[in-house]
Amino acid sequence: MSGTDRFHDPAVVAGLLERIARAVDALGRPVTFMEVCGSHTHAIAAAGLRHRLPGGVRLISGPGCPVCVTPVGYLDRAWALAGQHGAVLATFGDLMRVPSSRGSLELAAARGAAVRIVYSPRDALRIAEENPGRPVVFLGIGFETTAPTIAAALEEAERKGISNFSVLPGNKVMPPPLAALAGAGDVAVDGFILPGHVSVVTGSGAFEFLPERFGLPGAVAGFTPADVLRAVEALIGMLAAGKPRIVNLYGRVVRPEGNRAALELMDRVFEPVDAVWRGLGPIPASGLGLAPAWAHRDASRLPVELPRPVEPPGCRCGEVLRGTLDPPECALFGRTCTPDNPVGACMVSSEGSCAAWYRHERWTMEGTA
Ligand code: SF4
Repeated sequence: MSGTDRFHDPAVVAGLLERIARAVDALGRPVTFMEVCGSHTHAIAAAGLRHRLPGGVRLISGPGCPVCVTPVGYLDRAWALAGQHGAVLATFGDLMRVPSSRGSLELAAARGAAVRIVYSPRDALRIAEENPGRPVVFLGIGFETTAPTIAAALEEAERKGISNFSVLPGNKVMPPPLAALAGAGDVAVDGFILPGHVSVVTGSGAFEFLPERFGLPGAVAGFTPADVLRAVEALIGMLAAGKPRIVNLYGRVVRPEGNRAALELMDRVFEPVDAVWRGLGPIPASGLGLAPAWAHRDASRLPVELPRPVEPPGCRCGEVLRGTLDPPECALFGRTCTPDNPVGACMVSSEGSCAAWYRHERWTMEGTA
């Protein structure tokens, strides 16, 4: 059996489920673990793990979907850049249908705004190169995984003298919201399944504050069902031993110190700024703004008139992102809010919890399927 098959093998998964059931029994109390990565959310939902785990183990989703945590005000600013400065907006496709106070970027495009879907910041740079007469703004959202690619595109723009390329910075970093959630009174979490992709860049060492400051264990995990279950087993084991720490179970790609080249690239271009997260509000030093040397490529510095930010009425995406509400508990889930007709960001994004529940776990909620 190859190394990869080992993580998908039904017998391995069944064995892990049995061991977890025995471990949580021995622990003598129920546990709740939060995953904070949209890819984990979908892996868990697709494999039905939430419902295959023993009753004493609850998995909840946190703020791991970058599109979902991006506040309405960011999209309002993007609309304004298109309308008031004639900018070409270059964006990942996930952002197209997320509602702003005025409507989605899809609607903006239908009304004549120049909105182009790209697969990387370099694609956006190419659009700028091909359209030297127009400002091209890349909508820079994501976590530590996308920030280095944005930094690389900005450095390339500088090298090539492509002066009409800029970024609307909206990238966020993962450790500060985890600290906010670990210290929040309304979110009862016994440990974290830590994001595999983010940890490739930051290193598993970036999460040592969880046991040190909050006495909570964390497990960096990959994305197969066995990867996730091994993380659950490790977290229960650390709780049972009373020795919370950070374990790296994704050692095939994650190192304790992370990717130094990517971190240095980010340091050259970005600086930490306070940022607003949907569901969590403002969190100090949780965002990446462009450093002063890059002010000439910072689209957030362009003056615009903005509307008062308005969230979609009835949408409880913020509570979903805090882990205090499961998507089917929202009255709109599966009724007026579906992936074909999303009301809020958590149903739009392919990484959103509401979309994951709708695609894979609807059957657990009578009357919503
Ligand atoms: S189901 Fe739709 S309306 Fe409800 S919280 Fe999720 S995204 Fe918002």
